[in-house]
Amino acid sequence: MTLKVLFSAPPQQWSAFRAPLDRAFREAGLDTDLRYDHPPGEVDYIVYAPSGGLSDFTPFTRAKAVLSLWAGVESIVANPTLKIPLTRMVDSGLAEGMVEWVSGHVLRHHLGLDVHITRRDPRWNPVVPPLARHRRVGLLGLGALGSACARALAGLNFNVSGWSRRPRQVEGITCLHGEAGLAQILSHSEILVLLLPLTPTTENLLDERRLALLPRGAFILNPGRGALIDDEALIAALDSGQLAHATLDVFRTEPLPPEHPFWAHPRVTVTPHIASETRAETASQVVAENIRRAEAGEPLLFLVDRDAGY
Ligand code: NDP
Repeated sequence: MTLKVLFSAPPQQWSAFRAPLDRAFREAGLDTDLRYDHPPGEVDYIVYAPSGGLSDFTPFTRAKAVLSLWAGVESIVANPTLKIPLTRMVDSGLAEGMVEWVSGHVLRHHLGLDVHITRRDPRWNPVVPPLARHRRVGLLGLGALGSACARALAGLNFNVSGWSRRPRQVEGITCLHGEAGLAQILSHSEILVLLLPLTPTTENLLDERRLALLPRGAFILNPGRGALIDDEALIAALDSGQLAHATLDVFRTEPLPPEHPFWAHPRVTVTPHIASETRAETASQVVAENIRRAEAGEPLLFLVDRDAGY
């Protein structure tokens, strides 16, 4: 029987995803009818992006799973109308983009590139940057994206530690967990990268007290979610010199409002939620594989733990 797959995402994504999804479904041996306008009661699977506007899953009486195109699921995970399994996106293309963004911004701060890019006066001041092996980088979050970035940074010789909720093992990385692990990683991270999901437990994780644990003059990169950091505490830490710089890709309100102090702050770099994105070709294969699994009665990949919130 033909499976009816609803594409519930903004219209501009339909043109990017339609052909790759149809191709991936064919390659997975699935007989599917992919549309953005199936009547809810006839839908078997929902390919979903929060920006598509769907919030009431009640009319989808025969749907078997919601397959998120986004890695972050904070806006849907607690939806009381969602009673069927929810999967999140783990996509090699998404990870590849994140590794590039994080590596680029870590290298910017490690090498002090701003000094040379912005200087116009003819002052010869030959300060050689330290080797990466002497620079301590911490990653909060050692999941699909955090561990990919940790490996890439270790591959550049950085001294990398990572922090997760449960104990993890990533080759070449000092892995920490729990409250004691958090204090430890903060106390030695000269460059700190946030790749945590936003959950009730991680919201405002970096508050005044925890920012004070970082070495003085540390750099923060946040491509995770804006609400992981207390904005006011962050600005105070930048103003006092506790932090040298914050490079922020994600914000409590997006787009970041023009009057927000981050825009004008000399120690803040704003990037407009472009650290990475789900790539249609690779992500379509993940969606197709999960529908194949569901139809075969096999466990779904990247199932969201609704209690943990990610
Ligand atoms: P994963 O679910 O694979 O990894 C999440 C990591 O965070 C895991 O290591 C997890 O620990 C850890 N974690 C979760 N809660 C806690 C906690 N309370 N204490 C300590 N560690 C915790 O997610 P991804 O790596 O795929 O994605 C991470 C986030 O990146 C997304 O949720 C999203 O917000 C953001 N993102 C941003 C993008 C951008 O363009 N800016 C693009 C895509 C994603 P454990 O290993 O024990 O489960």
